[in-house]
Amino acid sequence: MSTALVAPAAVADPPPADPTPAGPTAAAERRGAELEELIRREPGRFRVLTGDRPTGRLHLGHYFGTLQNRVRLQRLGVELFLIIPDYQVLTDRDVAERLSEHVEGLLLDYLAAGVDPEQAVIFNHSAVPELNQLLLPFLSLVSVAELGRNPTVKDEIAHSRQSAVSGLMFTYPVHQAADILFCRANLVPVGRDQLPHIELTRTIARRFNDRYAADRPLFPEPEALLSAAPLLLGTDGGKMSKSRGNAIALAADADETAQLIRGAKTDADRRISYDPAARPEVSSLVLLAALCQDRDPHQVAAEIGDGGAAALKRTVTEAVNGYLAPLRARRAELSGDRGELRRILRAGNERARAVAESTLDQVRAAMGTVF
Ligand code: ATP
Ligand code: MG
Repeated sequence: MSTALVAPAAVADPPPADPTPAGPTAAAERRGAELEELIRREPGRFRVLTGDRPTGRLHLGHYFGTLQNRVRLQRLGVELFLIIPDYQVLTDRDVAERLSEHVEGLLLDYLAAGVDPEQAVIFNHSAVPELNQLLLPFLSLVSVAELGRNPTVKDEIAHSRQSAVSGLMFTYPVHQAADILFCRANLVPVGRDQLPHIELTRTIARRFNDRYAADRPLFPEPEALLSAAPLLLGTDGGKMSKSRGNAIALAADADETAQLIRGAKTDADRRISYDPAARPEVSSLVLLAALCQDRDPHQVAAEIGDGGAAALKRTVTEAVNGYLAPLRARRAELSGDRGELRRILRAGNERARAVAESTLDQVRAAMGTVF
């Protein structure tokens, strides 16, 4: 019933393309430099948990927003837990369609991008019941008002296909807290939309520790790690998202990529510049080329100069297709061995379950529910 009360207000007032407040973003960016230094010195002190909903093909927003960072962190020696949150597919739709196809696609993208599956724990949310049991105590630690204020949830409600907001949509940031805390991850490489959720996870960890484990805190307060592209825009100028029909998939072929970029929104000014605040669409395209070529976006823009949108799009298409060619080739190779993909997931589910069982035992002990 409370969900019905939430829906109309949130839908009547659709938030802007980037609903995340500037303050937390700036703070996360500042902290990012310190974190990088700490990681470089002692990678073994960090454990990463992050993941992607199996709602479609991963896109460039994922790659430059978080996937590239995951691979980099793993190579530095940081432990990596990758969750495929299948229950979360049901936050904004009634049925999780083509689930096994999407899960397989995610795995292929991870492996093709360079994640080492022998080191990483790659697992399905639904396969770890002990993780999900954390949801009950965690829900008791947050208020309905706190959940209702979450700007990312408001944005997702505005883009949802459902007419009413489900309890799952409303509470999914608490699920995410369980996803992160079950393995005591302390580092979460994410895009900007996730910052409010990480903040809530920190609040839940703090409140749990205060209430049940004041002498020996059970949970860390995890920190977000933003990349150089914390909010890549899609071809329509909104956040690039699997579910919004505005994304360039990692698995797309070169022609599909060219066609999508040709259709991307730009503006009327022929002179290309990099100015994300004043020219978000053009700047996002410039940034994309710069990321693919590992160059400074201002330099990329200056080189295109008065070439206009057509020259910009040609540059971006070449840069993206050139950059993704090896990843796409690896992906095609790996897709031949579905048995291996299943083996990786089964092993990941088992390892995640063992970790979740141990955490739940400690939660039970802290809460006095060992019978
Ligand atoms: P959906 O539309 O189904 O919600 P999505 O494209 O938003 O899909 P998620 O699975 O919700 O993808 O997000 C997975 C991770 O990728 C999160 O850490 C999120 O911050 C990051 N991410 C998603 N889109 C972008 C983007 N456009 N720019 C930067 N990071 C992104
Ligand atoms: Mg999303």
